[in-house]
Amino acid sequence: MSTNPAAPPAFHLLAKPTGAICNLDCAYCFYLPKEKLYPGSRFRMTDEMLETYIRRLIEAHRFPEVTIAWQGGEPMLMGLDFFRRSIEIQQNYRRPDMTILNTIQTNGTLINDEWVAFFREHNFLVGISIDGPRERHDVFRRDKKGLPTFDRVIQGLDCLKEHGVEVNALVTIHKANADNPLDVYRFLRDELGIKYIQLIPIVERRNEMDAVSDFSVTAGQYGRFLITIFEEWVRSDVGEIFVNMFDVALANWSGEPVSLCVFSPTCGMTLAMEHNGDMYACDHFVSPDHFLGNISEVPMIEMVASPKQLKFGRDKLDLLPRFCRKCKVRFACHGGCPKDRFIKTPDGEAGLNFLCAGYKAFFKHIDRSMRIMTGLLRENRAPAEIMQMVANEQGQTKTSLGNVGRNDPCPCGSGKKYKQCHGR
Ligand code: SF4
Ligand code: SF4
Repeated sequence: MSTNPAAPPAFHLLAKPTGAICNLDCAYCFYLPKEKLYPGSRFRMTDEMLETYIRRLIEAHRFPEVTIAWQGGEPMLMGLDFFRRSIEIQQNYRRPDMTILNTIQTNGTLINDEWVAFFREHNFLVGISIDGPRERHDVFRRDKKGLPTFDRVIQGLDCLKEHGVEVNALVTIHKANADNPLDVYRFLRDELGIKYIQLIPIVERRNEMDAVSDFSVTAGQYGRFLITIFEEWVRSDVGEIFVNMFDVALANWSGEPVSLCVFSPTCGMTLAMEHNGDMYACDHFVSPDHFLGNISEVPMIEMVASPKQLKFGRDKLDLLPRFCRKCKVRFACHGGCPKDRFIKTPDGEAGLNFLCAGYKAFFKHIDRSMRIMTGLLRENRAPAEIMQMVANEQGQTKTSLGNVGRNDPCPCGSGKKYKQCHGR
């Protein structure tokens, strides 16, 4: 164990056993170009490296819970025997007081009964990438032949559902689904029966200017997307459907630690490891500038607690532009992910998040609901009680509709004009 006083008791590491290699060719994938970092590589984690990885990860934790997070490319391309071996190695190195949680993020197209039985037996948390109903999903999520993948993903999901494996849907928000938030949300909730949803905005900077690729979501679209889903969720799904953005917002409003680096004041505790054991500052910063070392040569915790990595994490806070420092929703936003901070503030300072306008609109919009839910939590009551409150308000609003002008304050007490609130 490390004696470095900066060494954290735990951290999160995404391991990519196939590097960037995937059986699909999604248009917006930021991993595929990373193949160029390792010319000539077979992009397969060796058995020796697998053992080193698990041993080093367990050694590096002073906390009794360790998460082994498999990510790609497509990690299932490693085959089931690789994952069986990983479980055996975990058993060999696990300390008696230690709980090990395995997670896997997959495109879902290779899932079959054998895989599902394995996931179930070893309690894997399975994340499936799906971008909504067929007509939204298939726009960008295609295979190497350019063929749509929706049916194959649904087949994998059905298989998981049949065996009772809970799924976390990872939904990227981009040009093809950003204007259809309710189609996406209701499809996941009602047709797929998914309870856990992660929303990830696609922002791909096209050049050193502030231009983004055609498939990127705009700040305005992202804000509207989140607000629209939030309005549905706060009326009917609190405590039933778990959307990462809303959970994290509630944690920030309540002053609790948050589980998502993007909305934390600093970062640097979510690192990435390539198939050959090379570690990088973050999955979004797999580049020579952010290379920390190889786990065969340097103890993992020394890289996590290295001055370079600590600076990387602190820069998120230290480089916040003045505009963010004065922002009323900074406590919830923290300037977002540094990878998206490439536009200028209204007074010309560099380093503002491309999604700022969307974040601001969303966080302002949910303020009142978040305060209510925080109050409920403080009184040891369930945040889900807000749904009844919203229903009551709506009832009252409806009965007094005749007296409310479009420019009058909304009777719900939001402080907004009626036309901008319940009268929309
Ligand atoms: S750079 Fe972005 S994704 Fe990476 S750890 Fe920081 S906030 Fe998280
Ligand atoms: S909403 Fe905009 S100004 Fe406010 S903290 Fe976030 S990125 Fe900065």
